[in-house]
Amino acid sequence: MVYLDNAATTRVCKDSQEAVLFAMDKAYGNPSSLHGLGIEAEKLIDYSKAKIASALGCDINEIIFTSGATESNNMAVFGLATNYGKRKKRVVTTAVEHPSVAEPFEKLKSMGFDVVTVAPNENGEITADMLIDAVDENTCLISVMAVNNETGYVLPVGKAFKEIKRYYPECYTHCDAVQAFMKMPVKVKNLCADVISFSGHKIYAPKGVGGIYIKKGVRVAPLLMGGGQQKNLRSGTESVPMIYAFGKAVEWLNPTIDERYEKVKALNEYARQKLCDIEGLIINSKDSASPYILSISLPCFKSETLLHFLEQSEIYVSSGSACSRGKKSSVLTAFGLSDRLTDSTLRISFSYDNTRADIDALVSELEVATKTLVRAK
Ligand code: PMP
Repeated sequence: MVYLDNAATTRVCKDSQEAVLFAMDKAYGNPSSLHGLGIEAEKLIDYSKAKIASALGCDINEIIFTSGATESNNMAVFGLATNYGKRKKRVVTTAVEHPSVAEPFEKLKSMGFDVVTVAPNENGEITADMLIDAVDENTCLISVMAVNNETGYVLPVGKAFKEIKRYYPECYTHCDAVQAFMKMPVKVKNLCADVISFSGHKIYAPKGVGGIYIKKGVRVAPLLMGGGQQKNLRSGTESVPMIYAFGKAVEWLNPTIDERYEKVKALNEYARQKLCDIEGLIINSKDSASPYILSISLPCFKSETLLHFLEQSEIYVSSGSACSRGKKSSVLTAFGLSDRLTDSTLRISFSYDNTRADIDALVSELEVATKTLVRAK
């Protein structure tokens, strides 16, 4: 099997698998219980918080666990707009965000907010100046992702947020860092973000766990109300096995971020070279994109047809992004891709343990595809 869909999700690493079992079997108390078993469970949560806080360069009290980045993003957008958008009604985002940011912004529009969406320029770029210029003294929130999940495009978050905070300290900054976290250094200090979202299952932890960094002093209204867990910010009994597994994955990955990045970069370069030999193939991702994501198009062939063709040889990739589920990607269109290219896009996304042999297998099957599949009109 050749798994090249790591931006969709990853295989759970051994440390995380063991952590899940340990928490389920040995530390199954409710972390809010006052007895020893509850305290054992709470310790596992604190352990994970410490690992994540150390990776992000923040305080452990600034980390809240959620069910995943969809929840973190919803919480960030609604939670900040609710608290800081009473008078300031302008909110800013980009046209290339994940639906878990884009749709909350749509909702804010229907709630009377003035939503400004920054789209890439004719070169398919969003510059720091474009983001800074979109913010004014009436802006309460700006949300910009670190790395785009469909193309790997790296957005100038740190540069833009730094200036925005300097000129408009009352504009709150949120970054969806899902496709950057543990793949490249994501530090609170460098991002200048008040709130950051991240997810477990993109980094070899199980699905159903994520987190949100909330800078000390920044108020985010909770989405969930109830028992008041996690300082009233996220009620609900914490999923200790998932949270512990998340911390274990971060602990395992954090020392090797640079090493894995270089390895994947070399693999990405190899893939680009090999793929260029396929007649008509177009590489959509910029050279400066995150090496973990490579978007390509094979005009005349539908993404889904190609995806299922590759699947027959147990090669797994995405069409555009896994979340879009066959829907035409508005993100690729925003990046300037024509309908023809958008319809024929495949997203290849790497893990540190992919090999050149994986790329060779992909390229050789794509070559067969171009010779045997019927071309779309
Ligand atoms: N943001 C980005 C950039 C993503 O790639 C994803 C996952 N596709 C999410 C948010 C949502 O994360 P989760 O699956 O943890 O809800």
